[in-house]
Amino acid sequence: MPVAERYARQALFPPLGERGQEAIGRGTVLLVGCGALGTHLADLLARAGVGRLRILDRDFVERSNLHRQSLFDERDAVEGLPKAVAAARRLREINPDILLEPEAAHLDAGNITRFAEGADLLLDGTDNFETRFLLNDLALKRNIPWVYAACIGAYGMTMTILPGTTPCLRCLVPELPAPGSVETCDTAGILAPAAALASALAAGEAIKILSGARDAISRDLVAFDLWANTTQRLKLERGAMSRGCPACDQGRYEFLEAAQGTRAVTLCGRNAVQIRPGPGRIADLDALERRLAPLGPVTRNPYLLRATVEGCTLAIFADGRAIISGTSDEARARALYDRFVGA
Ligand SMILES: [Zn+2]
Repeated sequence: MPVAERYARQALFPPLGERGQEAIGRGTVLLVGCGALGTHLADLLARAGVGRLRILDRDFVERSNLHRQSLFDERDAVEGLPKAVAAARRLREINPDILLEPEAAHLDAGNITRFAEGADLLLDGTDNFETRFLLNDLALKRNIPWVYAACIGAYGMTMTILPGTTPCLRCLVPELPAPGSVETCDTAGILAPAAALASALAAGEAIKILSGARDAISRDLVAFDLWANTTQRLKLERGAMSRGCPACDQGRYEFLEAAQGTRAVTLCGRNAVQIRPGPGRIADLDALERRLAPLGPVTRNPYLLRATVEGCTLAIFADGRAIISGTSDEARARALYDRFVGA
């Protein structure tokens, strides 16, 4: 069957060809995180014709996202839509021929296996090492390739992990960085072109992986600084680098086997804390709306409720999660959650 007109110029690229294009169309991708990196990744992959794109993100769109998160616009911020939902809405207008599966959720050890079901590739659009280590563990255990991407300030980097072939992320970063030890976009800011460049590099790797062009896949850690005008390629080889790695050398998947993780987590780039409810708790948004309305302005969409109380904004999702903006103090956020949402 000839390639659809939509993909004709892409399939014309000789190393890809019609066969490569068809392989991309059969691919299933789990993209975790739909912010600066994730929106560009999703855009490039949807346009490239990936068959099924599952987009998972825990946050909702705000105006401060718009300078760098390419799929979102003013309307999404006003509506306060979950990023996964807003991205899927936009992507359906870009390419209605692919399957889009938005998931407004927080990825953890308890649900990653379900979200990664059937995935041929995992993509990193996250902003934290805890989630990346979880992705790394699952990728190694299930033998699924994944692409690490990161961006801060004008700096970005990517690395492709082919389980059993290349070093893994924990070969490079053995332990979780201590809280506060790494810069975040909260402290260092972020330039949209740097995010666009890092995600373009990662999307290129994704297209190679999905189309089966294994020889073309980068074996390097690629890093650049758009402001300092530097680019580095660091050759990565298994062997000495992987020796003793808990994940890829010893097969211990500590993050995958961990309990649910912490209940409260400070979010990167936001003066905000996410609070997760205990297991099995689902929020009754109607009842919450009635309870919170007398205290201050409340807005609703089908996915979440936003209310302002005591100088903080609580965004409560239907799965019981809440993002509490206006504080980075986890104890205060937890107290607000317990008082206004319910423990
Ligand atoms: Zn490793």
